[in-house]
Order: sequence, then structure tokens, then C-alpha cells
Amino acid sequence: MLLAKTALSPRRRRYFLALLLTLVLLALAHIWLLPPITDGRLFGTGGLAELLVLFIVLATLLFTQMVTLPRHTYLLLTIGFSLWVVSALIDVMDEVRVQPLWLSAYGEDLLRVIGMALAATGFYLLLGHTARAHGELDRLAHFDPLTELGNRRYFAQMAASMAGGLSLLLLDLDHFKQVNDSLGHSVGDEVLKAVGQILARQCPDGHAVRLGGEEFAVLLPKLDDLALRRYADNVRQAVAQGMANRAALTVSIGAGSQVLGEDLDTLLRRTDRALYRAKAQGRNRVELAA
Ligand code: GH3
Ligand code: MG
Ligand code: MG
Repeated sequence: MLLAKTALSPRRRRYFLALLLTLVLLALAHIWLLPPITDGRLFGTGGLAELLVLFIVLATLLFTQMVTLPRHTYLLLTIGFSLWVVSALIDVMDEVRVQPLWLSAYGEDLLRVIGMALAATGFYLLLGHTARAHGELDRLAHFDPLTELGNRRYFAQMAASMAGGLSLLLLDLDHFKQVNDSLGHSVGDEVLKAVGQILARQCPDGHAVRLGGEEFAVLLPKLDDLALRRYADNVRQAVAQGMANRAALTVSIGAGSQVLGEDLDTLLRRTDRALYRAKAQGRNRVELAA
């Protein structure tokens, strides 16, 4: 899990300070141990650019210390940027001091290449974690954890994406409160799960969602009234049969199809009135929206 943090943990702060100290010591060692450049070269634009690279890599390392990352990713990024920052300092110092060949030509380049390779691998892993975390958040935001059906947000998204008109079933379990009251809330949960499975199985051509509580909905590509009634009645029977030996549970259904130019809210209101009629007329039945 990726968690944004605002402050460095004490351990990471100690690590960062130790790295800064190493950089200072390395710079001082250059000044004490190596002869200055005497050929008249100045610390010019090249030197300034190298100094800038040093600060950018150092800042990137600091940013990676400020978030919680999976262990391997954290280690790859930290070691990678640390080696890279040391090579960047050596690169700056060769503007003012004559470095031995092993340091300027081999040491610096080798450190940079290894550092960049480790950082790039860490970054690649980070992209994978980010994509997975995004997928998980998307699932949590759009699916109901109990029934694993889509939720209201998913419902709105699907409805908006269905071009060419849609039909809608609104389902409300009959006397569900009695299941909770007589068999217990956890049996009630199992019943909701089982109804969710029946709906998912029964409506492969549509999107079954749990709107909340014991209320469900199914979105379908638009059907004519006859086909819609038949479809809804099959769903009603599947629930009644599927639940016959568990809680003798039935469902009432309101069913409606979008008329030309009708928005989702209006269709929902019409279909909800049909559901209300199905309840009022004795439950375990389908009513079409007027
Ligand atoms: P009706 O036939 O008129 O729809 O009656 P009903 O009992 O189904 O309707 P009512 O709205 O009175 O009760 C719904 C019940 O659903 C009440 C609530 O405790 C229960 N419920 C809502 N969400 C959950 C849930 O996630 N789990 C369980 N076990 N029960 C829930
Ligand atoms: Mg209800
Ligand atoms: Mg109910």
C-alpha cells in the first residue's frame, strides 16, 4: 500500500543527514587531497549544470524518503539515487580539482550507471504498485463488499455509458426485515449474498447492482415491454426458487424502459413507483412503469 507522508521518519532523517555528511566529506577530501585545476578553466555553465543535477537528484532522493513504499521498491530507489548523487558530486568536483583517471573516468560513470539502473528498476516497480493500488481503490469505490455486485456509483457510471437507451429493474426483497428478526443479521447477510449471486447469474447481459440495504437494480439494453416483463419475471422466479429452501424469500420488481429523451432520474422515479405498486398489490410480482 502506498501512503503519502508529510514528515521524514527519524530513521530516514538520520540516513539523509548521513548521506549529506558523506557528500560534504567527499567534497572536503577533494579540496584537501587533490590539486586545483590550473589551466584557467572556470567553473562555468557546465559546472553550474552539474551542480543543478546534484540538487535535483538529491531532492528526488528526499522525496522518495517522504512516502511509505514497499520494501524492495524503497531500497532500490534509495540505493539508486544515493549512488547517483555521489557520482553527481564527483562530477561537480572535477570542475575545480584534478581527479585521478580511475575516479573521473571509471568511478563516477560506474556509480552513475549502477545508480540509474537501480533507480529505474525501483521506479518501474513503483509504477506497478501505483497501478495496482489504483485498481484496488477503483474496486473499493465501485463494488459492494458484501455481495460483490456494483454499487450506486457503478450504477450511475454504467447508465451513463449505455448508449441507445436502457431498461431498468428495481428490486426490493419482500419482508426482509423478518429474515433478520427471525434468523439473525448474519443469516440476513448470507441471504443478501445469495440474492446477489442469483442476480449476477441471471443477468449476464445486464449490470446487476446493490443500491443499498435489500434493494437491487439491473440495467439492461432497452427491451420492449413484453420482453422486459418476461425478463423481470424470470429474475423474480429465479430469486424465489433459489431462496425457497433458505428463507422462503421473494422479491418485488418494478421494471421500466427509457422513453426517447428521458433522463435516468425520471426513469428511476417512474420505475420506483412501479415497484411501490408491486409491493402494494401483494409482493412477489412484477409491475411495469407507466
Ligand atoms: P418490504 O417487503 O416492505 O420491503 O419489507 P422489508 O422488511 O423488506 O423492508 P424494510 O425496509 O422494513 O426493511 C429492510 C431491512 O433490511 C431493514 C434492515 O435491517 C435490513 N438491512 C439493510 N441492510 C442490511 C444488511 O446489509 N444486512 C442485513 N442483514 N440486513 C440489512
Ligand atoms: Mg427496502
Ligand atoms: Mg424490502
